[in-house]
Amino acid sequence: MQVLCEKGNDICVLEKDGVEIGRARIVNGKVECWIAPEWRRKGYGTFLLKKTLHQMGISQSETLTAQAYGGEGPFYKKFGFQAVGEGRYRRERKKQVNALSIVHDFWEKHLTPGCTALDATAGNGHDTVLLCRLAGPTGRVLAMDIQKQAVENTRERLQREHLSAQVIQDSHENIAQYIAPNQLDAAVFNLGYLPGGAHDFFTVPARSIPAMDTALSLLKPGGILTVCAYSGKLQGTHERDAVLEWANRLGSEYDVKTETFETRSGLPPIAVCVRKNLR
Ligand code: SAM
Repeated sequence: MQVLCEKGNDICVLEKDGVEIGRARIVNGKVECWIAPEWRRKGYGTFLLKKTLHQMGISQSETLTAQAYGGEGPFYKKFGFQAVGEGRYRRERKKQVNALSIVHDFWEKHLTPGCTALDATAGNGHDTVLLCRLAGPTGRVLAMDIQKQAVENTRERLQREHLSAQVIQDSHENIAQYIAPNQLDAAVFNLGYLPGGAHDFFTVPARSIPAMDTALSLLKPGGILTVCAYSGKLQGTHERDAVLEWANRLGSEYDVKTETFETRSGLPPIAVCVRKNLR
């Protein structure tokens, strides 16, 4: 069984044993999902819609609507849609504010198509994909990771999303070998270890802090740098503290905003958003 989403097409097709048994389409947040009658009520619709949302990169916080023409109401309700009358359904999710959402919003605010962006910790490629979308086909995105597995995961994700970036297996201290000064619109660091991968490649301040300094020196005026840092376990807390100290010592050349979520319980990740001032 596979879900095929054609490049540039907003339709995903569900195939079972090489035969099409369903289709889903999401245009401007409007969902249409169709399953061949003989395959209904077996979970295929749920599978198709989940895959379609994922493959189209539609975030969990996006508002979706649907029109039920027959008995699809319970199907949409399973996805958190509410009936809003006359067969119409709507799903609204409150956006979660966390370190990642803060840095993503910052990128969206400051990056425009054609920009040059660096993902200094490519990991599984989620951030690289977002940067590619913001940079558009005329932009340039570089993604670095010290770990082979991460480089492979990022390349695979980009391929699935029909996006391209220069993916480099190297440590982020070596950024300057790949980007000339005054070329960079954004550098992003999402510290920690590869989710789902080996924990041996945890980012360490001895490497990440100099890399951030180098990235700052490569930024164009008006360029941005963001950091997400995780607390917990000695390693994470040590790195988070080093990042906060680093952010505190940045001079007046930079506009710096730090969110530590101090009033939240547990050890939530922190976000640091830096913008190099326009001279
Ligand atoms: N941005 C990623 C994503 O969207 O999936 C998540 C990044 S993950 C939290 C941190 C990554 O940093 C890991 O994949 C790890 O291999 C990488 N890393 C650790 N030390 C590094 C270094 N010195 N240079 C580059 N990457 C490094």
